[in-house]
Amino acid sequence: MGNGASSSNNGAPGHGGGESSHEIITGNGHDQGAILEASLMGHAEDDGLPNLAAAAVNSTSPFGDYFDFSIIDSTLREGEQFAMAHFDTAQKIKIAKALDQFGVEYIELTSPAASPQSRADCEAICKLGLKAKILCHIRCNMEDAKIAVETGVDGINMCIGTSSHLMSHSHGKDLAYIARTAASIIAYVKSQNIEIRFSGEDSFRSDFAEILKLYSLMDQLGANRVGIADTVGGATPLEVYEKIDALRQAIGCDIETHFHNDTGCAIANALVALEAGATHIDTTVLGIGERNGITPLGGLVAALLASGHEYVLEKYRVEKLADLDRLVGGIVQVEIPFNNFVVSA
Ligand SMILES: [Zn+2]
Repeated sequence: MGNGASSSNNGAPGHGGGESSHEIITGNGHDQGAILEASLMGHAEDDGLPNLAAAAVNSTSPFGDYFDFSIIDSTLREGEQFAMAHFDTAQKIKIAKALDQFGVEYIELTSPAASPQSRADCEAICKLGLKAKILCHIRCNMEDAKIAVETGVDGINMCIGTSSHLMSHSHGKDLAYIARTAASIIAYVKSQNIEIRFSGEDSFRSDFAEILKLYSLMDQLGANRVGIADTVGGATPLEVYEKIDALRQAIGCDIETHFHNDTGCAIANALVALEAGATHIDTTVLGIGERNGITPLGGLVAALLASGHEYVLEKYRVEKLADLDRLVGGIVQVEIPFNNFVVSA
């Protein structure tokens, strides 16, 4: 418990009937084989473009439709891919505690299957008893899922490349194979009472009609969330709105988004994603990550404060942000930028 990211979205205008992730039991009792076949054979329901004007009219809260959302901070996963980041166990624990004090709903860790040290660190952070839920990022692979479950995490963020580029050059599997493998992992992880997210790496460059079909299937199989990732940081805000809105209308489960910042659009894309019906946003402290990183936690909070000041102040201890920036900046040896975001409590 403790999240309820989409519980307030029930019946929210413009949303596709989002339900509490903890109440979704659609996968149980269904014949997986039949669902797989029917879903991959069928047409994506939503081929039309979203109605931006209708979405604007439907805004009813300080945030429009997106007044209840969760931050998944990935400083200890995406951030580990930053060129200067080599966190030791003590540093990871310090960062996890500081993120928890700030109030992020989720902390994402590197796959415990990556190395014995990653596994030990994951176990140590799970034992801290933080309020934030602990997630780990894994490949779409049953062995990785079993290792992750053993560490005591609250949730698993499973990921596999779905763009034609990654399917032909990275793992060489097709969408039918991905669907079959993911289905068995979802069933296993859910049987352990752990949250599961399915995400296509590079999903913004994937065939979106196929993504809609695949994600609808994951929703039917009981995934708590699907994730959509702008892995190369090339998505524009309008494109993000159109795709998230189409996804929101096609599925009922939560939607996580992950935006790289190659073109400087990562904060804008995150905000637009929330407006279109996303429920979870990935961030890192100072935006650290692969290349020039992803949506920075401070930047997202600054942008959210502009739309719903009181609500954000209730949800997060924004006065802790400066210390968080200094803590992580000190560890990875980067200066706080002169044009860092203005967060006024
Ligand atoms: Zn990333």
